[in-house]
Amino acid sequence: MNKFEHAESVVMNTYKRFPIIIAKGEGCYVYDDNGKKYLDFVAGIAVNTFGHGYPAVVDAIVKQAKEMLHVSNLYWTQSQIDLADKLVKNSWFDKAFFCNSGAESIEAGLKLIRKYANKTHPERYEIITMKDSFHGRTFGAVTATGQEKYKQGLNPVLPGIKHVPFNDFEALKEAVDEKTAGILLEPIQAEGGVIPGKKEYLQKVREFCTENDIVLMYDEVQCGIGRTGRLFAHQYYDAPPDVMALAKGIAGGVPMGSLLATDKVAIGFEPGDHASTFGGNPLAASVACVVLDELLEKGTMDNVKIQGEYLTKKLLKLKDKNSVITDVRGVGLLQGVQLSVDAGEIIVKCMEQGLLLVNAGSHVIRFVPALNVKSEEIDKCIGILEKVLAS
Ligand SMILES: *Cc1c(COP(=O)(O)O)cnc(C)c1O
Repeated sequence: MNKFEHAESVVMNTYKRFPIIIAKGEGCYVYDDNGKKYLDFVAGIAVNTFGHGYPAVVDAIVKQAKEMLHVSNLYWTQSQIDLADKLVKNSWFDKAFFCNSGAESIEAGLKLIRKYANKTHPERYEIITMKDSFHGRTFGAVTATGQEKYKQGLNPVLPGIKHVPFNDFEALKEAVDEKTAGILLEPIQAEGGVIPGKKEYLQKVREFCTENDIVLMYDEVQCGIGRTGRLFAHQYYDAPPDVMALAKGIAGGVPMGSLLATDKVAIGFEPGDHASTFGGNPLAASVACVVLDELLEKGTMDNVKIQGEYLTKKLLKLKDKNSVITDVRGVGLLQGVQLSVDAGEIIVKCMEQGLLLVNAGSHVIRFVPALNVKSEEIDKCIGILEKVLAS
């Protein structure tokens, strides 16, 4: 048995993995167990906010591990209070809940929407989400996800969730009825193909939800935490939601999710209504505090704007030279390249050449590097991609 056959014999068969074992990382690079170096434009799929081994993140982990890794949410901890304070002070939300992943933050949001509706408009329970969206793999989150391929063999999924086309306000309005409690969308659909929301669409949805007291929830699990060059993508769009799910980059690689809500909607939850054993524990919360401080105070989001524009410019140039590229789109350091051919084969060839990339659906390559990526690293990424496309 070789090492990959052994791996497959002991790890459950849920992922189709590339045949490399990643052994360590440094900045925007990772190394496999043979010492081969790869430029990492996946960053754990938008998780490693400052790349690998970022000193402030490492120091926060070590310091917190020496003090206390975990304590129950039966008690207060200063790091969780500090993190909630930073999140609400830097947003228009009033309250934060903490969990451990994107799907969990979506579950918390789905429950909060139902709970709020139950208290304010008891006839309402239905939640409308978008086609081609991605919200995670737990039962509620996978039901909310607007892609059938993730639901095969799982039926019946959760009742009370329906899907409409994204960026189509008329279709949304048409779907709303007396049972509608909430609307959930990603301001920029990430996994579904890097599809940015239209500003006027999001602003219309916001206005409509306010007029009808329908809860508007955003999934900013991937597009939040500085990825667009603003702390949250909705700030870029000027159309804030009532409830927002965060995860991925929030603690720079330490597992964490969060649900933020305005006081108006947060009344849906009372003690005992929702919980998480690990949620917001001192390790994750103290690291997330450092991530937010670094983002807000060290000019990282300016770098996202500069490098995001640089990456777009380079990708557009590549499009001019290569007819297989049919579109380049995205915001900040969440960029996608639409191809007329399958993305998978190109991604494998790039990996062989020492560049890690991830797809977003079958025909889109996604670029989600660390937010402190440098222009030399973008040049190198484009160089390898160009070589692969030419072959
Ligand atoms: C990754 C992702 C999720 C799911 O997060 P997990 O941590 O894998 O549960 C949900 N929504 C969006 C937009 C994501 O990108």
